[in-house]
Amino acid sequence: MSEAYDVVFIGGGPGGYVGAIKAAQLGLKVACVEGRGALGGTCLNVGCIPSKALLHASHLAHEAEANFASMGLNVGPVGVDVAKMLGFKDSVIKSNTQGIEFLFKKNKVTYVRGWGSIAAPGSVKVKGEDGSETTLSAKNIVIATGSESTPLKGVEVDEKRVVTSTGALELASVPKRLVVIGAGVIGLELGSVWKRLGSEVTVVEFLDHVTPGMDGEIQKQFQRSLEKQGIKFILGAAVSGVDASGADLKVNYTLRKDSSTASLDADVVLLAVGRRAYTSGLGLEAVGVALDERGRVHTDGHGRTNVPGIWAIGDVIAGPMLAHKAEEEGVSVAETLAGQKGHVNYDVIPGVIYTDPEVATVGKTEEQLKQEGRAYKVGKFAFVANGRAKAILSTEGFVKVLADAATDRILGVHILGPQAGETIHEYCVAMEFGAASEDVARTCHAHPTLSEALREAAMAAAFGKPIHS
Ligand code: NAD
Repeated sequence: MSEAYDVVFIGGGPGGYVGAIKAAQLGLKVACVEGRGALGGTCLNVGCIPSKALLHASHLAHEAEANFASMGLNVGPVGVDVAKMLGFKDSVIKSNTQGIEFLFKKNKVTYVRGWGSIAAPGSVKVKGEDGSETTLSAKNIVIATGSESTPLKGVEVDEKRVVTSTGALELASVPKRLVVIGAGVIGLELGSVWKRLGSEVTVVEFLDHVTPGMDGEIQKQFQRSLEKQGIKFILGAAVSGVDASGADLKVNYTLRKDSSTASLDADVVLLAVGRRAYTSGLGLEAVGVALDERGRVHTDGHGRTNVPGIWAIGDVIAGPMLAHKAEEEGVSVAETLAGQKGHVNYDVIPGVIYTDPEVATVGKTEEQLKQEGRAYKVGKFAFVANGRAKAILSTEGFVKVLADAATDRILGVHILGPQAGETIHEYCVAMEFGAASEDVARTCHAHPTLSEALREAAMAAAFGKPIHS
């Protein structure tokens, strides 16, 4: 048995590494066990960060093609050097993951390389890359092992032709025809990347709309916007399998409305039908850690599992599979372990889709409020009436603010539009303070900014009328 730690985090993704740093800052003796050879988890290595690098590069290519000439900028046709673009993406990953190693050193978090499992409460076994085994003793163990791509029966992933998000960030060339299974966040972000780089992209989705769980109005306009960019959608279609035996891949699907079957040819297929909690090999059954009906580690809403001294955070437990939700939970558990009152406000967790336009949402959707029977008012403002949006040729989309009909308290905000993922945060802060739409409506906003559209939507909710429409 090696050194004794106050807490050992198993998993070095956004939940584990952030929790580890916070716990160390609060004076605890901390180790973080990570087996993939780099810190940062799915987010930094094969998820959020690399996809944003490719979204940025491909967005600029699109801007050059679609908008430069109208602004008087003459450039030749845009050429895409995929290998170089992937190199750029890899350099972004490296600088981020090395940054966490630096933060670990700075905060005195011990980085233990290897795959961890729970031998018993208070004991973490680590299998190193060279096969060696060590055991860490820990007063507390935090499971922060994240999630993995959900498989689909009849679809065999090889990460070359049939890929998950991991392979879709590594394609050696631009596929002529890309079929995406699932119109969720991954499918639409990565579908956008390859569409902008020249692929014909078709998205096959089981439901009758894109992005399940989002506000219905946003879903409709977002789909229209992507269609205008050339992405095709086949909705209400359940993919039953991918035949990879020939030169072309065949994606077979069944239309739900009449049970008819059809197929699509593709060069690359992206499987993006969700992610599932990653719990295998952790030894949870032996120590008696309870899972919920969907195989996620069950917690009490504050990170405690049913076994004293064992905690869980992030994608491996219930809730949205978002890096920033995991970070909040990591901080909350660290604070609790340090004797403070850790807490996560699950009502104010923003969700962003980094397409163009972006989608950003926080709080309740109209559909949820209707279901709850809550009386609400709606304030809306379109970016077409925003001066800054016009100046940057990004007038697509709108801001929608939902506020309580009686108290005016902000209940939900939904944005489709330029830089929505950045501008949404003024509403996150407002909601943390229990603000009314009138509070945002009466706050001076700099001109000319996209944020003015957010204020105008608040005016529409608070006073029934914005100024500029
Ligand atoms: P998702 O749950 O967002 O979407 C999956 C889609 O696949 C759903 O619309 C579902 O109806 C559809 N589907 C399921 N089975 C199907 C079938 N047989 N045929 C056709 N369609 C089918 O999942 P995702 O896009 O894979 O993302 C996984 C997780 O990662 C999500 O929780 C997401 O929030 C997270 N993520 C977030 C971001 C971000 O915040 N920007 C980016 C990437 C991933």
